[in-house]
Formats: sequence, C-alpha cells, structure tokens
Amino acid sequence: MAIRFDAVIVGGGPAGLSAAWVLAQAGVKVAVVERGDYAGAKNMFGGVIYHEPTEWVIPGFAAEAPLERKIGHHEYWFLDERSALKVAYEDAGWREAPNAWSVLRAKFDAWFAGKVEKAGARVITQTTVVDVLRHGRAIRGVVTSRPDGEIEAPVVLIAQGVNALLVQKAGLGRDWQADEVVLGVKEVIQLPKGVIEERFGLTENEGTAVEMMGGLATGGSMGSAFLYTNADSISIGTAVLLSDLRARRENPNHLLEKVKAHPSVAPLLKGGELREYSAHLIPEGGYRAMPRLYGDGVLVAGDSAAMVNAVTMEGTDLAMVSGKLAGQTILEALEKGDFSEKTLSRYRDRLEDSFVLRDLKQFSRVGTFFSRNEQYFDFYPRLANRVARQLFTVDLRPKAEHVRGLLDQIRGERSLWRVGLDLVRAWRALA
Ligand SMILES: Cc1cc2nc3c(=O)[nH]c(=O)nc-3n(C[C@H](O)[C@H](O)[C@H](O)COP(=O)(O)OP(=O)(O)OC[C@H]3O[C@@H](n4cnc5c(N)ncnc54)[C@H](O)[C@@H]3O)c2cc1C
Repeated sequence: MAIRFDAVIVGGGPAGLSAAWVLAQAGVKVAVVERGDYAGAKNMFGGVIYHEPTEWVIPGFAAEAPLERKIGHHEYWFLDERSALKVAYEDAGWREAPNAWSVLRAKFDAWFAGKVEKAGARVITQTTVVDVLRHGRAIRGVVTSRPDGEIEAPVVLIAQGVNALLVQKAGLGRDWQADEVVLGVKEVIQLPKGVIEERFGLTENEGTAVEMMGGLATGGSMGSAFLYTNADSISIGTAVLLSDLRARRENPNHLLEKVKAHPSVAPLLKGGELREYSAHLIPEGGYRAMPRLYGDGVLVAGDSAAMVNAVTMEGTDLAMVSGKLAGQTILEALEKGDFSEKTLSRYRDRLEDSFVLRDLKQFSRVGTFFSRNEQYFDFYPRLANRVARQLFTVDLRPKAEHVRGLLDQIRGERSLWRVGLDLVRAWRALA
C-alpha cells in the first residue's frame, strides 16, 4: 500500500533540502527521497557556497555547519604552458562579513539533511525515484525503487540534480544536449593545515578560490579549471563542455594532470596525498535550456531546472534559493488545498522577482556564444600572458621593439580588427 505525505521531494541536495527545511519548519508532513546512502554521498562540486543566499535559507548556518574555510581571496589565473597571469581580489571586510565558504558537499549536505530531519521531515535514503504517479493529468506522488514503493502526495518537487529524468517523465522538459552540460572532474588532495596556510599566504581558517582559464586547463575548449583550499585539503579540478571533449576526443583526466603539473600549481600540491576522485556533470545551458518550472502537482528546482550561472560559477545558491521559493509555494498551495498549475505558477513569479531568473535571463546568450568562439579559451589567455611577459621583461632591446614584436605575434594569429571585434562581441554577450 502506498504511503502518504503532504509533499514529496526528489533529491537530498541543496535544492531539495532547502524546500524540505521550509516545509518541515511549518509542520508539513514532507518526505525527501535520496538515492545515496546519505544526503551528500553522491554529490560533489568545486567548491564554494555563498554566505548571504545560504544565510537567507538557513539563518545562523555559519555557527554550526561543517565549513572548511572562509574565502577572503578570489583569483583568476590565465594559463599558458609555463606562465600564469593572475588577477586577484582580496577583501579584509570579508573577515568580519564573509562572502563565501569552501565546503565539502558530503559533509555539508549530510549536516543539512540532519537538520531537516530534526525539524520533522522524513529523509528516505538508499531509495531512487523511478517515475511519477499520475491521477489523470495531475502528478500526485512518486514511484520508488523499493518493492511496493509508491509515495502519494498532492505535490512533488523534482530536485534530482543534473540527471533530471523525472522532468521528462513529468512532461516538463527534454534531455540536455551535449553542448549544454559541462563535465567536472575533481581530486581532493590532503595536506597539513599549516602547510596550506603557508603556501597560500593565509591566516588561520581563511581560504582562497582560484578559477583558471586557458588552453592548458581545458585543451582550448569552453570551460575552466579550479582550485579551492579546504581546512586540510585542496580541491582541484577541471570543468569542460561535454560536446567539446567528445569532438576533440579529449580525456578530462589528462587535462587535470596537465593543470596539476603546471609550474604555478605543482608547488602548491607538492607532498599532498590523493584522498578522493570524482566526476559530475553541470547543466550550463542556462535560461534557454530550462524546462517548464511547474505543472499540475509538480515543481522543478536547482540543477534539474538548469539553474546554474556559468559566468559566475554559481549553482548551489540558485539551488537553495529556488528550493526555498518552491517550499513557500507548496505551503501556499497546502493552505488553499489547491495544487493546480495556476496556484503553483506563483513559484515562477517568485523566481522572476529573485536574482535567480534575473541572472539567468541576463546571461542567457553566454553559453552558446562562448561555446562557438573557442578563441576566448585559448588565444586570449595566451595573449594575456604574452602581453604580461613583454611588460615585465627587461632586456637590451628598446621598449618600442617589444611592442612591435608583440603586435607581429598577434597579427600572425589574428588580425587586429578581429581582436577588436571579439572584445565588442564578448561585451555584448555578457551585458
Ligand atoms: C565540478 C563542479 C564544480 C562546481 N562548483 C560550484 C561552486 O564552486 N559553487 C557553486 O555554487 N556551485 C558549484 N557547482 C554547481 C552545484 O554543485 C550545483 O548547482 C548544485 O549542487 C545543485 O544542487 P541540486 O540540489 O539542484 O542538485 P544536486 O546537488 O545534484 O542534488 C541532487 C540530489 O538528488 C539525488 N537524486 C538524483 N536522482 C535521484 C532519484 N531518481 N531518486 C532519488 N534521489 C535522486 C542525488 O543523489 C543528489 O543527492 C559545481 C558543480 C560541479 C559538478
């Protein structure tokens, strides 16, 4: 016989748990179904979570959550084979009012799930949702992998992350295309706490987030590499558009090895012990790839709805905020006793009012534009390094000769008017 809840949530990631948190706190009988052994068991990311959106969802989280380091430095590195042009920003104000925290998802999600359970939600682990239950047109629950594993509920939130098969089963969207997903591979390398602080020039518990661009990091494809400092480990990885990996027959592990061997990276990892290797897809198709966000008895949040900002590399905050807004909409529907598409459409209104849909709309052209213009991931990072090299090189030649040499090198690969045009087009895609 099917068990019954007031709401059922598929996926115990940031999106699903945020919705469950809102509902459990309001006394709603809610179930979160998670296929992993525990929430977070199957999850990985770069990565950092951002303080303010997380605080909006879980007030006071920083005092109790398993956080690695307070991120006070953000850096962009443009890599050439043996050099790196580094753009860094650090903010002393972030010591008192943090902007971001490095996090290991297996710990963070498990902690959040425990909190959600304590508030009264049922977190059902080791259980995969395989289909939706329908009463006529409306969705009224889910079918799980357990024998007799139907769960009835008047409303279902699909928050199952990037492999959003249920979105298709619910008739709300299509499968992603290979040029709409990025494949991330990551290693966690253990090092003593003090060594990390010394190597990165950090004071205790402060951390650094580095994004690396350039052909060396991505084989010239659309994507980036990343490095984040945790308490006593370093997360390092690459994230490259799947269609590019396929077209170039590029092995992402080879890319990661190249990044780890780069002269600017290798000394930071020296002597470290490999603790974890993982891979995960990121839905970066953005606004144009989004499914319908609601239907009769159903809502979609987080990665399942392509809510990732590829420009700023944010996904967790969009997942958490969309999860909370979905939870608020479900509460409203429960109060009205009406789970129709019309009532649940308030979810879309809430998202339109938030930064989630505003940002995704703003950057809606970015993915397609950059995936078709690989010069931004290869030629320009190399160019940036050449310019820096000329700027800092002092030899016996006059400076005018340096400039002429640089212009000749650029012209050899790309005409100056094309360089100008590229800059204007990139600005237009981002603005
Ligand atoms: C390499 C990489 C680096 C990233 N770096 C960052 C970063 O630094 N900062 C940032 O903000 N974002 C980052 N992201 C993006 C971020 O991780 C995601 O946007 C975020 O995790 C989305 O949360 P979610 O809850 O929607 O999905 P997920 O976190 O994927 O959670 C979905 C959950 O659903 C479960 N599930 C799936 N299918 C089923 C099913 N059928 N039945 C039951 N359970 C199911 C899964 O096990 C999982 O626990 C990164 C992602 C990757 C891959």
